[in-house]
Amino acid sequence: MSLMKEFMLLKNVNIARQINGVWQLEKKDIHIEDGVIVAIEDQLFCCENTQFIDGGGALLLPGFVDVHRHLWETGFKGIGMDWTLPHYLQIMLGEIAPQMTPEAVYYGTLLGALECLEMGITTVWDWSHIMNTPEHTEAAIKALKDSGIRALFGYGTPGTSVWEWFYESQKFHPEAAKIVRKNYFNGSDDLVQMALAIRGPEYSTMQVTRHDIAMGRDLELPITMHMGCGTFGEKYQGIQQLAQENLLGSDLNFAHGNYFSQQDLACIAATGGSIAITPEVEMQMGIGFPKLSKILDHSIPVGIGADVVTSCSGSMIDQLRLVMQTERAFQHAIAIAEGHQPNANKLGTDQLLELATLGGAKVMGLESKIGSIAIGKKADFILLTPDQNIQNVSGGLAGYLFSAFQPKDIKMVWVDGKLQINAGSSISFSTSDIRRKLREISSNQLACFSL
Ligand SMILES: [Zn+2]
Repeated sequence: MSLMKEFMLLKNVNIARQINGVWQLEKKDIHIEDGVIVAIEDQLFCCENTQFIDGGGALLLPGFVDVHRHLWETGFKGIGMDWTLPHYLQIMLGEIAPQMTPEAVYYGTLLGALECLEMGITTVWDWSHIMNTPEHTEAAIKALKDSGIRALFGYGTPGTSVWEWFYESQKFHPEAAKIVRKNYFNGSDDLVQMALAIRGPEYSTMQVTRHDIAMGRDLELPITMHMGCGTFGEKYQGIQQLAQENLLGSDLNFAHGNYFSQQDLACIAATGGSIAITPEVEMQMGIGFPKLSKILDHSIPVGIGADVVTSCSGSMIDQLRLVMQTERAFQHAIAIAEGHQPNANKLGTDQLLELATLGGAKVMGLESKIGSIAIGKKADFILLTPDQNIQNVSGGLAGYLFSAFQPKDIKMVWVDGKLQINAGSSISFSTSDIRRKLREISSNQLACFSL
């Protein structure tokens, strides 16, 4: 490891920052030292040994944070657009997952991480329930580390049998979690950190849930589980079961929560847990309508994720727009049912953009490092050069992004001060080569499925 410090000066950029709740632009220069922002001024000057980048007045956003995504599935893009949850469980987890080789997990996870970076997502919570062998685990971790993305690696269960590992499973989370923690995750400032991705009360017994949460706590890891999903929410009453056993806590993250009751949300709020909403998949698969407004009413940390990119868009802006308009339509339907035309939108674009940045960072416990552009934070940025001069857009920055953002506008993406995307593409990998590799693997190793 080099002992030389690395300096970068990013000049002439319009920094997007939230001031009194409203996203605004400020024309500034930024000085970065070893991946950390050390100065933001009207004018800064280049010193010796400093990498210089002229932003040309482009827009600089904090990197997006996706709080729930299964990266290993990315190679199967489009396969599940017409699926509901039972199809997903049966085909993706029941039939495809057991056939996945370590090589397929490596390239699928790598492709998923690169898709994130190309979309301006600099941090992702990867929910990796494909831990079929130690080699699969190593492949998934290596792919995340090779990609250059910032990530929480959610160490999940084997994908060898959905019937044994899900559906009121009586199998404890693999003990190998302890070895994985020890062998791969030692540095507290490393880009890739570990979490435990458990089944929880909707997919395993309470005995298993008790064990798995204790394991996560012994290992001092954040713990995530799918909860409040469709009929499973009502049937298992997971939050109330956890509350009765005094298991709730600020280290627990719940994906979806569509069928959480007011009482469930109050319990989560009181104990400091967080929620991940994945709007498109939730509405497609029969998981339920996103419950964003109610979650926000309880001041629960909440972020947005794409979840299953075989069934939905991997773009953060797409997911934000979908959840925003769905929530609005809900509110409007209530007003119309009461006999009056809606005259306000409760959820605004400024608030939604915050959920995709600082909101997601809070869900992942990373708010001191990422989520906004500020002195002392990591240099995780997206440089956008939109067609239009956004200084003159009357709807404001967030409004502009929601109505006109296109992935092609993303020119550069940095993670931890290191350039990962330039001119819209990875500087280290060819995604078309990885897709080709996945097609070869699919024809050789995944007999039933072609990519
Ligand atoms: Zn999921």
